[in-house]
Amino acid sequence: MTDRYCVFGNPIGHSKSPAIHAQFARQTGEDIAYEARLAPLDGFSAAVRDFIASGGRGANVTVPFKEEAFRLCDSLSARARLAGAVNTLSFADGRIAGDNTDGAGLVRDLMENLRTPLAGRRILLLGAGGAARGALGPLLEQAPAALVVVNRTAARADELVRHFAAHGPQTQLAGGGFGELAGKSFDLVINATSTSLAGEAPPLPDGIFAPGALAYDMMYGQGDTAFLALARRLGAARLADGLGMLVGQAAEAFFVWRGQRPDTAPVLAALRAA
Ligand code: NDP
Repeated sequence: MTDRYCVFGNPIGHSKSPAIHAQFARQTGEDIAYEARLAPLDGFSAAVRDFIASGGRGANVTVPFKEEAFRLCDSLSARARLAGAVNTLSFADGRIAGDNTDGAGLVRDLMENLRTPLAGRRILLLGAGGAARGALGPLLEQAPAALVVVNRTAARADELVRHFAAHGPQTQLAGGGFGELAGKSFDLVINATSTSLAGEAPPLPDGIFAPGALAYDMMYGQGDTAFLALARRLGAARLADGLGMLVGQAAEAFFVWRGQRPDTAPVLAALRAA
């Protein structure tokens, strides 16, 4: 019998996840069906229970339900616990298990698709919301030389750095506000703020991109995002958007559910071509 999965979000109409998982299923020969489900803003847990009752085996969770999903779970993976948010649910024996594959998807995109080594590098992470939180643990696992987190609300970046301090003993970890970036430069700058959604770019100073640096925006869309346009002006050598992260987190969720690691490169290429 076909195993059923879905992604919950609000809005969810433009989700690429059903197309991504359909390609993974074809590639691996797994017999699954995957659909997008709109959950009411005040009805996420009821929507999950309905899906379980109708035979659902697992689900992805996107904006704005990742923190609520975290609270709904009976058990959590270490990386979900650390991130404080869940994007992957598995249903078995009447229990809900939660995982967070966003950070793993980001790291996989950086290292495999973009061939960007992280060990020993200087990384700047912009933002301290859910996406930044999910990325921090997996980034620290790669042992960068330095990881600086800055946020509009500096106290949130400081809090995040305190929370993760024990998880990257080999990395110089610091938090703060955008004002502290003057005179500093990085090999990789990751935008995990939601500024690009509003067509705005975070305030970055000249010289922030070291020679050869990669500018990475978690957001994706047609053409340069506002952050990538700024990075281009400031001399970033390479630019990437977050479409590869989206495919990477989906591949990691597919592995959690099916124990198979799909090849992300052809799926990413098909999405780019579409
Ligand atoms: P959150 O709402 O949790 O966090 C938003 C962050 O953006 C906060 O750090 C906030 O700062 C900052 N911010 C918002 N407005 C401004 C502004 N005008 N100037 C400076 N900073 C600002 O969002 P998420 O963490 O969930 O998502 C962040 C981005 O990552 C989104 O663009 C999302 O689409 C993308 N994303 C992509 C994924 C992928 O697979 N490619 C997966 C997950 C997310 P403050 O704390 O001061 O409010």
